[in-house]
Amino acid sequence: MTEAATNAADRTYDVIVIGAGPVGENVADRTSAAGLSTVIIERELLGGECSFWACEPSKALLRPVIARAEARRVPGLRQAVAGPLDVAAVLAHRDEISNHWRDEDQVDWLNSVSVDLIRGHGRLDGPRRVTVRTPDGGTVRLTARHAVAVCTGTTTALPDTPGLDSVRPWTNREATTADHAPGRLVIVGGGVVAVEMAAAWQALGSQVTMLVRGDAGLLSKMEPFAGELVADGLREAGVDIRYGASVASVFREGREVRLTLSDGTKLVADEILYATGRAPSTRDVGLDTVGLTPGDWLTVDDTGVVTAVAEGWLYAAGDVNHRALLTHQGKYQARMIGAAIGARANGEPVDETRWGAHVSTADHTAVPQVVFTDPEVASVGLTTREAERTGRRVEVVDYDIARVAGAHQYAEGYRGLARLLVDVDRGTVAGATFVGPGVGELLYSATVAVAGEVPLERLWHAVPAFPTISEAWLRLLETYRDRHQPRRTPPAHS
Ligand SMILES: Cc1cc2nc3c(=O)[nH]c(=O)nc-3n(C[C@H](O)[C@H](O)[C@H](O)COP(=O)(O)OP(=O)(O)OC[C@H]3O[C@@H](n4cnc5c(N)ncnc54)[C@H](O)[C@@H]3O)c2cc1C
Repeated sequence: MTEAATNAADRTYDVIVIGAGPVGENVADRTSAAGLSTVIIERELLGGECSFWACEPSKALLRPVIARAEARRVPGLRQAVAGPLDVAAVLAHRDEISNHWRDEDQVDWLNSVSVDLIRGHGRLDGPRRVTVRTPDGGTVRLTARHAVAVCTGTTTALPDTPGLDSVRPWTNREATTADHAPGRLVIVGGGVVAVEMAAAWQALGSQVTMLVRGDAGLLSKMEPFAGELVADGLREAGVDIRYGASVASVFREGREVRLTLSDGTKLVADEILYATGRAPSTRDVGLDTVGLTPGDWLTVDDTGVVTAVAEGWLYAAGDVNHRALLTHQGKYQARMIGAAIGARANGEPVDETRWGAHVSTADHTAVPQVVFTDPEVASVGLTTREAERTGRRVEVVDYDIARVAGAHQYAEGYRGLARLLVDVDRGTVAGATFVGPGVGELLYSATVAVAGEVPLERLWHAVPAFPTISEAWLRLLETYRDRHQPRRTPPAHS
């Protein structure tokens, strides 16, 4: 199919998808694969925030930073990477990865999966109806026979700090597209975006100062040791981290940003990045026309149906439903939701059992996430704090990753920590967190263990190759075993 002519008469499709980020694209792909006529509406670029202003460009900035840090720990290689990064080459690579902010490849892909595209701003206009305002000022009215899926994602949630409007602060968009490193960069926030961008821009030449509210440390949703080890890494790289610091007021004077913190401290910077969380892109999608409140997150059931709207025709997938603000998890939801829409439309049974073919069960128990800093953080499932909050009975098993031969081979002076949360009632892994260089690639094994609810007894048969960092798995099992089955003392020879 081709890009749909924008001023054609009103049209009817089986499925209408609003928002062609990674998640909307995948919903559309799956409904089309189920034999349903599908149209997708996009107001900016196909591929959404992830392809152009988030995951892809940020990881392109971080890859050389992490690779250099790791290479500097390898004897014989250290000297070869002693110099600074080639910033121009890094930024050029970032531009390449972001496809120079053009989306024709994704348009070709949409065509190949027989999904129609309408460029413009989509809004709900009552049950099963969507109106699209096109860039040429036209209007297209659409009706869905079966489903409308809202996949409009999120934007940066900015606080109402006095003066902020006049400062033109960086959000994730400027932080991932900037064409030079600002001399002094203040980052407000201590979550994943904040630590990743601090690592990137400090290595690319900025003097970064992080302002972290409260005293919960960095990455406060993860195990505390993750934030502590990442903070150590950032400080060693030269980042100035200030806890308990919040911005009381801010203004721009000439090229400089001038801040006053709530304790009266004054700071001057060239740019200020707000990495202060995400807000749903639902202010202007016509939620009021179906009885919902504009600006709210869209709460869904496990098949993606918006629970507050009758008759089950409205779905929401990805960031906008607030279940797990990650591309891979949103795409997982998209696969399940697309299959559920297809099954319902085709009169087939919908499998809503736990881990069934049409439900996003993993959102509740097995969400994997990697933080791409030096050291990396990789986590899946429960944290100790969540286990306490939800009353899950878990036993915590920690192991110093530096002690495995694979880590010693990987880097001289390796620093890292692994934690398993064992569900004591089921004898399975309820959560895992690894911190250290190279641990991102351990995460899939942990995700299989958590989502598969693999009994610990069986994990003894999943043997990690020698010498890899995955040997930490074996050491964790041994630590758990030795705690419960202390070694017996052999009888002395008589
Ligand atoms: C700096 C940063 C780094 C990140 N890194 C990672 C990472 O490494 N790994 C990871 O898994 N996640 C990462 N994330 C999170 C990831 O970007 C999001 O989870 C993901 O983009 C969500 O996809 P989505 O399709 O739900 O929304 P989006 O990607 O936001 O896409 C929504 C789309 O809808 C369109 N749209 C919105 N409203 C309308 C409308 N009314 N009409 C038409 N179109 C509309 C938008 O233009 C957009 O294209 C990162 C986020 C940030 C901010």
